[in-house]
Amino acid sequence: MAKAPQVLVVEDEAALADLLKYNLEREGYRVSVATDGEEAMVVAEEVAPDLILLDWMLPKASGVEVCRRLRARQETRNTPIVMLTARDEETDRIRGLDTGADDYLVKPFSMNELLARLRAVMRRIRPGLADDKLICGDITLDRVSHRVKRAGREIHLGPTEFRILDHLMQHPGRVFSREQLLDSVWGSDVYVEARTVDVHIGRLRKALNIGDESDPIRTVRSAGYSLDLATADA
Ligand code: CA
Repeated sequence: MAKAPQVLVVEDEAALADLLKYNLEREGYRVSVATDGEEAMVVAEEVAPDLILLDWMLPKASGVEVCRRLRARQETRNTPIVMLTARDEETDRIRGLDTGADDYLVKPFSMNELLARLRAVMRRIRPGLADDKLICGDITLDRVSHRVKRAGREIHLGPTEFRILDHLMQHPGRVFSREQLLDSVWGSDVYVEARTVDVHIGRLRKALNIGDESDPIRTVRSAGYSLDLATADA
């Protein structure tokens, strides 16, 4: 049996932190709590969390700053981060998730909704052992080590780009609309604009196509995207 996933809760409101800890533990997670931005970095290093719940407004270092620092570290570069934000803090920045977070929830949220989101995130990061590795043409994606290689060269991807590539590699040649990618990669209950998909596809392309290799991602006008190595090689 795999160890229970470890969640790091970063929340300065003690009552909410306690409530989250209680509910997450009941759901089977191991939980660590940090109450400010500095402590979050220390605890993240100590416990190597599988997932981080991060409050937006924190003492010492803001949620955005903590997110930036976590992304800059090798160990937490791909760790899913779910941001918690008050309604009046919900900005375009967090809507577009260009903070580096994977998802966000607006306070007050229902515990059931939070748990459902976390389950969706865990399904994405801990898929069945049978499919630990996906291979398409010269691209290899390792879901356990979270590494992607193209023609033997290491490709560095953000967590969202990684999930998009994972999804496309599961169905090579198949065309996905932006809406389908939003549902599969972000989850159907998350509000993300369709153009956000284009932004992440752009980043994914840039990362994959550093050498002379042909572009494996096909843009199908007004339909969407597909991974098409055969077409790319032609
Ligand atoms: Ca707060």
